[in-house]
Amino acid sequence: MRGPWEYEDPSCASVGGNFWFPERDAGSLGLTVINFQSEEAKIARNVCNSCTHKIECQQWGLKYENYGIWGGLTEGEREPIRVRLNIIVEEVGNANIAAGVGYSPHQSNTST
Ligand code: SF4
Repeated sequence: MRGPWEYEDPSCASVGGNFWFPERDAGSLGLTVINFQSEEAKIARNVCNSCTHKIECQQWGLKYENYGIWGGLTEGEREPIRVRLNIIVEEVGNANIAAGVGYSPHQSNTST
């Protein structure tokens, strides 16, 4: 399975930003949580909906990503699909974080 950084001209490459990982300060709890109801999340999902790689990216997210929006699906949306299809996450996204790569696949590939 190809990683999103290998996609030809993904829609997110021309947008950039952190829309796929919208964060919200949880204030008094001293935590930062991801807010999938935010305007940033809506932007990300709209971009994914116009992307020719949406299905492939959803498959990637289901198999490898615990966090963020992939192919327009949030973390919470991926989980019941995984349960239904018996998919276990292989956590490439976490490996990317450990390597300092972060989530640049959402914005880095411009193969044209
Ligand atoms: S996250 Fe995936 S589906 Fe969304 S725009 Fe990027 S490559 Fe396309």
